[in-house]
Amino acid sequence: MRFAYVNGRFCRHGDAAIHVEDRGFQFADAVYEVWSVRNGQLMDADGHFGRLARSLGELRIPEPRCRPALEHIIRELLRRNRVRDGLVYLQVSRGQARRDHAFPKKPITPTIVLTCKRLDFAAADARAATGIAVITVPDERWARCDIKTVNLLPNVLAKQMAVEAGAVEAWQVDADGFITEGSSTNAWIVTKAGTLLTRQADHGILHGITRARIIECAQRLGLDVVERAFTPEDALDAREAFLTSATSFVTPVVSIDNNVIANGEPGSLTSALREAYLGEA
Ligand code: PMP
Repeated sequence: MRFAYVNGRFCRHGDAAIHVEDRGFQFADAVYEVWSVRNGQLMDADGHFGRLARSLGELRIPEPRCRPALEHIIRELLRRNRVRDGLVYLQVSRGQARRDHAFPKKPITPTIVLTCKRLDFAAADARAATGIAVITVPDERWARCDIKTVNLLPNVLAKQMAVEAGAVEAWQVDADGFITEGSSTNAWIVTKAGTLLTRQADHGILHGITRARIIECAQRLGLDVVERAFTPEDALDAREAFLTSATSFVTPVVSIDNNVIANGEPGSLTSALREAYLGEA
């Protein structure tokens, strides 16, 4: 049996429910966070808890639980679901109120939902061994992609386009022709000169926790990292390309819009970074 946690209690996953006038459902007035779990431990816990606090703060949603309380709930959720390797999802909405766009005048209690699922890391490893294809799509999102809100419709549509094109991820391109990020991952290339490029952490991208960790890993490995935007043409001309996220770690990208990058195989720096990251985790 699977369990979820909703507003203070564990319940059967199939029975878990929120109110129809929850502002997360009505307006996407909610944030979320995702942790990978390996050997029963949350990966990059500090980074994800830190980003959760920031997302809530940006939207002026009160923190529903302190971190130790959340960690306690997550441990119990993992135990009840017998998950040692997988993912934990947390959604926090502003709460439930009579429908009105403006915040409710009286303070309301945020809605909190936690779920988890098992993940087959072997499948992710297999994917990393061959590398994946990406397509490019216009970035049609709002101007605050640094806040991890549940407002994911453009990301959903972008990912669907990727799937329909036989690719795994869609790299979104802004109005100036620069790649922002994937639908659920950050984008990277290694230039011919061996420099790692990933877009600066501005409002145009989610500040990936894995992205930040990989910058540190790369620096420890003595690699040159520059945080600046690059175009699809730069990516096609690159020596290597890859993406990062809590759920895919470091995954090589071997083609863009059906054009092969370099020799079409995962790059050596990409593989070294994946190993370094997983070795430290
Ligand atoms: N960008 C977007 C849009 C995402 O949804 C994610 C996944 N949360 C990422 C980047 C990667 O972030 P992280 O490394 O924190 O998982």
